Amino acid sequence: MAPASRGIVSAPAPASGPRAAEPGAREDPLATFRRLCVRRGIALGGLASGRQDDFRTVLAAASLALDEGAAYDERGVNGRLAAWLAGPGAMIGCDHVELRRWLVDAGLVERDGFGRRYARVVPPPPAYARAVAGLAGCDLALFAQEARETLARDRDARRSAWQARRAAPPAATADDRRWMGEAIALAKAAADRGEVPVGAVVVHDGAIVGRGGNAPIGGLDPTAHAEIAALREAARALGNYRLSGCALYVTLEPCAMCAGAMLHARVARVVYGAPDPKTGAAGSVIDLFADGRLNHHAVALGGVRADECAALLAGFFAARRS
Ligand SMILES: [Zn+2]
Repeated sequence: MAPASRGIVSAPAPASGPRAAEPGAREDPLATFRRLCVRRGIALGGLASGRQDDFRTVLAAASLALDEGAAYDERGVNGRLAAWLAGPGAMIGCDHVELRRWLVDAGLVERDGFGRRYARVVPPPPAYARAVAGLAGCDLALFAQEARETLARDRDARRSAWQARRAAPPAATADDRRWMGEAIALAKAAADRGEVPVGAVVVHDGAIVGRGGNAPIGGLDPTAHAEIAALREAARALGNYRLSGCALYVTLEPCAMCAGAMLHARVARVVYGAPDPKTGAAGSVIDLFADGRLNHHAVALGGVRADECAALLAGFFAARRS
């Protein structure tokens, strides 16, 4: 061995070594595993370029599929890893061959030169020591199953709570009619500018925080719907792109674009006037507010001052035709 190599061996242990001080904020490996195991289709390559603790926890957990001190032939190691991927490691989106490669590259599993004998490396490489120590001895299959069942139960509970809310939508209040009046005024202003008369307001804590009138023609902007303008103004006014406690009032049933924007903004309640049989996305054509596959649910209520809202539109198109 050349002297230079001995010099490297005697260098201080790397910061990732097992004896290095761990900052108190680091997540427990079991908690990391719990957070990751409820996900789906995790790409190891993506994980490797992200949070190192996540990557190391997953590989450490996979390495524990091989018993300490046991040697496996290729069939044996593949069988163990395939079983792990079907159980505790079901969140990983790769096959056992790719997983084996990652484990060997990480130094968690050693193989002889011909790939005929595989074994878990004990002790594990220093970078993985904390994760292996935190996971060893735990029944990760049972642990993952419980975590996934809890997540599924929470999802079901959220879904049925939302369905219960939806089954009995609150009736329109005097306030709803008043706020719709503000939206109607904005719709009239849009008509005066030669735009299709649609108006919208966003209400937060009993006050209007955003107003919008339809403006695609004047603004040369196909996205310049009243709701979008009202959402933008409300987000600026509240200093937050999430409008969680807000209600949006609009004279015409929202289109898919606007319904999508409201879901992104997490608007709590959407009240509209006239239905839109051609592009309505609150039930007339599709109902984006009722689709349980979408993450956020806003309660939608239609038909508030619908006749006035519809009359505005009918009057506008009649005047254009004549
Ligand atoms: Zn729209």
